[in-house]
Amino acid sequence: MKPLRVQVAAIARQLHAAGWVANHDGNVTARDGARFVATPTATSKRLIGDRDLIEVDARGQVHGAGRVFGEIGLHLVVYERRPDVGCVVHAHPPHATAISASPGNPIERPFLAEAVVSLGPRIPKLPYAQPGEPARAALAPWCELVDAVLLGNHGAIAWGADPEQAFLRLELVEHLAKIAIAAAPIGGIEPLPEAAIAPLLAARARASIGRAADRAVATAAQLAGEPMPGSRAVVACAPAPHAAVPTVAPGGARSAELVSVVREEILRALRE
Ligand SMILES: [Zn+2]
Repeated sequence: MKPLRVQVAAIARQLHAAGWVANHDGNVTARDGARFVATPTATSKRLIGDRDLIEVDARGQVHGAGRVFGEIGLHLVVYERRPDVGCVVHAHPPHATAISASPGNPIERPFLAEAVVSLGPRIPKLPYAQPGEPARAALAPWCELVDAVLLGNHGAIAWGADPEQAFLRLELVEHLAKIAIAAAPIGGIEPLPEAAIAPLLAARARASIGRAADRAVATAAQLAGEPMPGSRAVVACAPAPHAAVPTVAPGGARSAELVSVVREEILRALRE
């Protein structure tokens, strides 16, 4: 495995090589203990080497030399809400950015099975938000639900366990956007049938590809099946208005039903 700074610098240069940034656009950060390695502001991603990277803390303060980019808040809010995330990548890939700046979002509902497994049940498009605190606040509620987001009239941002995974997710978003735009003149995208989504999300959870909903399902399964000795496990106490199952006791024979109730409620909430 290459050192983290070398990986981050390589991803930054890839953003330029892929044509996803121009001028000083785009930024990459990676978690390094309690701090973060980040690309410097006002530098073409084409020119980034591992020695050019800067170091910031969780408040966005620079430690050592260099200046941080203005969009650091978008990165920090992801790390704050997703302890499992090790890298965040933001760029302006032309197709994804075209969708971010046009009416509608043809890639919101999944239309390829692989995308559901890699990215989850939807790719939301946030309304335009002013850079700084408004943009950060708009992104915050989505961090735990998905792994990539279109930023309205701006671009795309994706995150993952490491630089490679975060980059691949952004690449997939751009690829889906390209396909959706190619499909527009021939009738547009037809999303996958609703019934196809749950088994694909189960495959995603089995592969430990992480969204909070998947982890919640896994936790519910664990708690329902194996209550911790000497403690009472409270699995869920929220109403499940769509469930046909009235009540399910933790650790009981109906634990599989509890898992499906939790999954269904979370997925409905995500879709609505
Ligand atoms: Zn940007």
